[in-house]
Amino acid sequence: MLVLEPCPSYSPEVCRPAMARLLKAAGGLDWVRPGMTVGVKINLVAALKPDSAATTHPALVCALVELLRERGANVLVGDSPGGLFNGPALERIYSITGMKAVEAVGGQLNRDFSCKQARFPEAKSAKRFEYTGWLDSCDALINFCKLKTHGMMGLSAAVKNLFGAVPGTRKPEMHYQFPQVEDFANMLVDLNEYFRPQLNLVDAVVGMEGNGPTMGTPRPLGLLLADDNPYRLDTACAALIGEDPAALPALSAARARGLLPEDTPLPKEMTPFLRPDWNRPPRRDIRFVRGTPLSPVLTFLLQARPKVLPAQCVGCGKCARVCPAKAIRMQRHRPSIDRKACIRCFCCQEFCPKGAMISHRSAIARLLTP
Ligand code: SF4
Ligand code: SF4
Repeated sequence: MLVLEPCPSYSPEVCRPAMARLLKAAGGLDWVRPGMTVGVKINLVAALKPDSAATTHPALVCALVELLRERGANVLVGDSPGGLFNGPALERIYSITGMKAVEAVGGQLNRDFSCKQARFPEAKSAKRFEYTGWLDSCDALINFCKLKTHGMMGLSAAVKNLFGAVPGTRKPEMHYQFPQVEDFANMLVDLNEYFRPQLNLVDAVVGMEGNGPTMGTPRPLGLLLADDNPYRLDTACAALIGEDPAALPALSAARARGLLPEDTPLPKEMTPFLRPDWNRPPRRDIRFVRGTPLSPVLTFLLQARPKVLPAQCVGCGKCARVCPAKAIRMQRHRPSIDRKACIRCFCCQEFCPKGAMISHRSAIARLLTP
């Protein structure tokens, strides 16, 4: 069941009671047994401070850890950001994101950097994939994401957050394995179906608009959300930021697989929190041109693509290093993108440390498919 709870700030005195009310409304914590290990899969996309709104806020994670600890659970908090999944990389990220605070309230930060192989014959895309071994230590999993825009998928919330179950060094391979957005969306749905979190939570106290999921602009919403169905939860998140859920590939994939209940009404109490003017990434769905002889050409011309903002680019070359299609070459300290090789995964946009790579559509494309 979808539930929401106002939470106007990250002050611990506000977060703790708000989290307690949210969990109670979501069915309570009677499923937590003393001695069990509850994994909390947060969003630690990169080494960014909590006020950047790129990662799940530590004050909320602490509030959740405290409530689980009161039930006698061991709480293991983790994620695999893009890049290396090892001790030095994660210690730095735990420090910068403020996540070390969870240790002071009795939680454990994951320090198991093993990887496992999954076989999932029922999957639509990800029938085999590698995942982070710490997830196997958990008797139950809570998926605790951040509400953000996302260059490739439009929205980063509950469904996208499970991509962090894949080791960072393997993520580019997944992009290359599933270059079509529909296949990638089905891969995300597969991960959600494989790990099946007990509960999904969204930190929308301050979300991210614009050039998300790492370099966008923080924007307060003052809300926490929860649901055991990640697709219904993301539908609510889409509504909050004025996004058409039908334009989000992951939700389309979930609906096609019968995982998203049709016509679920949004709670009335959500209305004051709706932000239709949220700065969202360019539209990715250009379905109206499909099936015509000109479809491939029109698709190529109209789709969103990465674009470098020269004034912000410092020539660090990170975009070229993370590009799974090797579509970027550095020329005179500036990235040059091979448009034909580009698979539009937007990893370059996600990992540019200066916000110099954006998701862009031409003026004519915006005119034709606003
Ligand atoms: S990652 Fe960003 S700043 Fe670095 S070269 Fe690429 S576009 Fe420029
Ligand atoms: S250029 Fe950017 S969007 Fe294109 S394949 Fe490389 S990382 Fe992905």
